[in-house]
Parts: sequence; structure tokens; C-alpha cells
Amino acid sequence: MRLIFLGPPGAGKGTQAKVLANQWQVPHISTGDILREAIQGKTSLGIQAATYVEAGELVPDLLIMAIMRERFGREDVEKGWILDGFPRTLAQANALDQLLQIMRQPYGKVVYFDVSSDVLVKRLLQRGRVDDTQETIGRRLEIYQEQTTPLIDFYQRRHCLKTIDGNLPISQINQKLEALFSALV
Ligand code: AMP
Repeated sequence: MRLIFLGPPGAGKGTQAKVLANQWQVPHISTGDILREAIQGKTSLGIQAATYVEAGELVPDLLIMAIMRERFGREDVEKGWILDGFPRTLAQANALDQLLQIMRQPYGKVVYFDVSSDVLVKRLLQRGRVDDTQETIGRRLEIYQEQTTPLIDFYQRRHCLKTIDGNLPISQINQKLEALFSALV
């Protein structure tokens, strides 16, 4: 099972990825979680990434790819994985292709969480994370539009994109994902 979860902040990717990774016993790889942990631990990665994350900006591709090379270097990825919040730019998507090719690990499907913007803002404000202020939410959604939405087309051209209605309640999204992918586990 090798899935990429694509969608705006607040789409519910992380929630679904956690549940499914647990069910399918594959690692849930969230660049956001890795960055937050590094920032909290004040590691060199955390110090370099903090200003970007706090402002709702994207962390530079080079730093993100260093994280992913390290993460894909661990043994547990051989069982499969769910990527959540990565790739977020075309440069990252291309770099991921190269990385997977080297590792002989093709990705299976890309799940696109399609959610209306009013639902997103409501969910993000409810979540109450430190980078979930009115200001950064606006900036993160703007960046998503500019930098991440081109990936929808990028993966659609490869015929590996599955769209999920992210406006549905969490339990229904989970059922849909299970129905779509359980056969592949
Ligand atoms: P997330 O938890 O996925 O919403 O990520 C939180 C923050 O971490 C984002 O707003 C970015 O600042 C940073 N981040 C996470 N993943 C990436 C990525 N793939 N590329 C660049 N920045 C990222």
C-alpha cells in the first residue's frame, strides 16, 4: 500500500492517514508532523524550518527533500506508506519520483481530498494549532492554490488520481477509502 494524500490544509488528510496507517500497519509519513517535532526539539532542522512554518509559508524544497530522503532510508518503508502533506510543489513531486525510482518503490495511488473553502476555514479554526490563526490560514490556503493545486493535474495525467469528497463526515470518508483501497493492502 503506497498512497499519497493530496489536498488543502484542513481537508482531513492527517486524520484519515493516521487511521488507515494503523489499520494497514504501514507508516504514516507527515512532513508537517516531522517539522513540528523538530521545531519542538530545537534540532538544526527545526531551527531552520521554524520561521516558515510559523508564518504559514512552505519550507524550502531542499530541506523537505532532505527530510524525505532520511525517512525513506528507514526499513519500515518497505511495507508501504501513506504520505500526508508531501509533495506540496511540482519540484517535490519530481524529486519524489526520482527518489522512488532509485528505491524501486512505485507509488500506487494519489488521493485528492476535494473540500470547499468554507468547510476548510471552519475546520482549521476549530483545530486550534499554533499555525492555525486567521492570518496564516489565509496564507496557507493561498499557497496551496498557487503551489500545490498544479499537482492535481500532474497526477491526473498519470491516471493515478482518485478524488474523495472531503466535505463528508470523517467516518464516511474513512469507509470510502477502505472500500477503495483495502483490496490493495
Ligand atoms: P501540515 O501539518 O501538513 O499542515 O504542515 C504544517 C506546515 O509545515 C506547513 O504550513 C508548512 O509550513 C510546513 N510543511 C509541511 N509539509 C511541507 C512540504 N511538503 N513542503 C513545504 N513545507 C511543508
